[in-house]
Amino acid sequence: MDLQLSGTTALVTGAGSGIGRAVALALAAEGVRVVLLDRDGAALARTASGCPGALLLVADVTDEAQVASALARVDRLDAVVCCAGISGPVGAGIEDVSLAEWNAVLSVNVTGPFLVLRAALPLLRASATASVVLISSDSAFVASPGMAPYCASKAALVQFGRALSVDLADTGIRVNTVAPSVVDTPMSRGDLGDTALDEAAFPVQTADEVAAHVSYLLSPRSRAVNGTTLLSDFGYTARSGFPA
Ligand code: NAP
Repeated sequence: MDLQLSGTTALVTGAGSGIGRAVALALAAEGVRVVLLDRDGAALARTASGCPGALLLVADVTDEAQVASALARVDRLDAVVCCAGISGPVGAGIEDVSLAEWNAVLSVNVTGPFLVLRAALPLLRASATASVVLISSDSAFVASPGMAPYCASKAALVQFGRALSVDLADTGIRVNTVAPSVVDTPMSRGDLGDTALDEAAFPVQTADEVAAHVSYLLSPRSRAVNGTTLLSDFGYTARSGFPA
């Protein structure tokens, strides 16, 4: 299927690693001119080596001034993909989570997309086919113990996306969310241990598989899809606890 993305321009945050990197490479392969944002400039440069003509923006998505000056360097946008995120404390009960840790997770995972999209909206409004994809998580719907800040942030992101799709309904800008279960990336290997995903007893998806969902949701092929969350969890949440 031709995704009809060739010649468009897309901003990808968190493009230095994991899912953001895979999204950047997948979009570049579709002929998209990518604008890559991350706080790690060296990592961005590694991603950009696979993305001809990429524009690189080194910025922290939680810093209003940095986001504004980064977006000021962009003159056109048809799409934004918000991948930058952190997991925060893993395996910590809420009494052991500091306010600073809580604020850091909410700041990167929720305030970051708010700041980036607010700055990108004037450019998106000028596009005939604008589409936004937020990367949430299955942690918006199910919880692993000891990850309360992350779960709360990812649930907030799902509803932020739904609210934004309603606010922007008259503009033609679509907003959808992808919520994957465990993806093999530096983040999940950092959280679970570097070898925990090798021959794991649970299903693990690749960043390229998530990037394929994102590419479809950015494409005009999905123009009727708006305000939804694509939960890619191998069907885990569909299963009832009823022991039939
Ligand atoms: P990753 O490999 O750690 O990549 C995230 C990238 O975002 C890193 O380059 C990171 O830089 C950057 N970043 C973090 N905070 C930033 C900030 N304040 N400003 C700018 N850039 C920032 O993680 P990933 O697994 O690809 O995760 C991408 C997204 O998918 C996240 O939102 C995550 O919650 C979500 N997700 C991941 C999984 C999974 O199992 N991996 C599952 C579901 C959802 P640093 O390296 O400097 O932090």
